[in-house]
Amino acid sequence: MATAIIHDADLSALSTFRLPARARELIELTAPEQLTELPASELPLLVLGGGSNTVFLGDWPGRILLNRLTGVDIQPLDPDHSLVQVGAGESWHRLVMHCTCNGLHGLENLAMIPGSVGAAPIQNIGAYGVELSQVLDSVTAWDWQQRGVVRLSVADCQLSYRDSRFKSADRDRFLILTVSLRLSHRFEPSTSYDSLTAELARRHLAPPGPRQLAATVMRLRRHRLPDPARLANAGSFFKNPVLATAAAEALLSEFPRMPHWQMPDGRTKLAAGWMIERLGFRGYRIGDAGVYQHHALVLVNHGQASSDQLLDLVGRIQGAVDDEYGIALEPEPNLVPRPLPGN
Ligand SMILES: Cc1cc2nc3c(=O)[nH]c(=O)nc-3n(C[C@H](O)[C@H](O)[C@H](O)COP(=O)(O)OP(=O)(O)OC[C@H]3O[C@@H](n4cnc5c(N)ncnc54)[C@H](O)[C@@H]3O)c2cc1C
Repeated sequence: MATAIIHDADLSALSTFRLPARARELIELTAPEQLTELPASELPLLVLGGGSNTVFLGDWPGRILLNRLTGVDIQPLDPDHSLVQVGAGESWHRLVMHCTCNGLHGLENLAMIPGSVGAAPIQNIGAYGVELSQVLDSVTAWDWQQRGVVRLSVADCQLSYRDSRFKSADRDRFLILTVSLRLSHRFEPSTSYDSLTAELARRHLAPPGPRQLAATVMRLRRHRLPDPARLANAGSFFKNPVLATAAAEALLSEFPRMPHWQMPDGRTKLAAGWMIERLGFRGYRIGDAGVYQHHALVLVNHGQASSDQLLDLVGRIQGAVDDEYGIALEPEPNLVPRPLPGN
């Protein structure tokens, strides 16, 4: 059956930030074979999953492929591990809960991250001390350069803090079709993240069981982050800056209360939310674009925000942070069409 193309498609409900936007063409991808059958086009191409890390600042002049590839396959690897291969259009959170409840461990701390499985490697999703890179085995992807399916190992994906080759060197080259995770049959909880440790202790759950750990993460997230179904947002709007040790030490001697974390590569990650909050931005608004009242790293759309209002807000925050701390904050979501150099 020929693949249907929707022309002049409304995108506002396909991104959790819900700015008004339209796409010239929208195609729902439900089987990889559609990729070989797609009518040729010179239009720019964008892949979209759940739209929770994509903010449309204007109309998309090209084609959007809406990834709705499904399927979960579980194979034993060795006595202690299974390989879980998942269609890229599956819900990430549903996968986490399915694995957590079926004796496959390693994903508990990543519960309730919105979006699709296929987008998880793009920015190496992470939360509460765990990153996808710790459990990712490999992905299969459609390579637009070779016009065929390739397998990329976790090393090939070049994952780092909120980054991968899919966001940098090979941006727009691959469409991820499946994601394979190496999950453990043995539950070894990761509970060293400060707020998680404290919440588990407060609820007398140390050490927690797998479902208790996921439930505690979900509880913390509900408390801290707005539900996109009620208040449009894209999660953390800025990446936490990562500095070389000497630069971080200089800044920390000036601002000793700034939260910071040591990275595996020896560099130091600083809390962008703390910087923004200290500058008084919590609850600040330009029209309907605002800083979330309870978490300064999250920008929200109170209803009718425009892209100009959002960009104005982003520029003011970036300017104030640069003036105070000498740090250039980078947006975390994919802003499209691209308005800023480096985004
Ligand atoms: C309330 C809230 C909380 C969040 N919390 C976290 C968090 O704790 N940790 C975290 O890391 N992130 C978090 N995020 C960000 C977001 O949920 C993740 O980045 C998620 O992986 C995005 O999935 P998606 O399917 O919605 O991606 P989309 O927004 O649809 O796409 C994101 C990017 O990936 C590309 N892409 C998507 N699918 C594919 C594919 N199959 N192949 C190739 N490229 C693709 C898109 O082109 C785009 O550039 C949060 C967001 C929200 C709204």
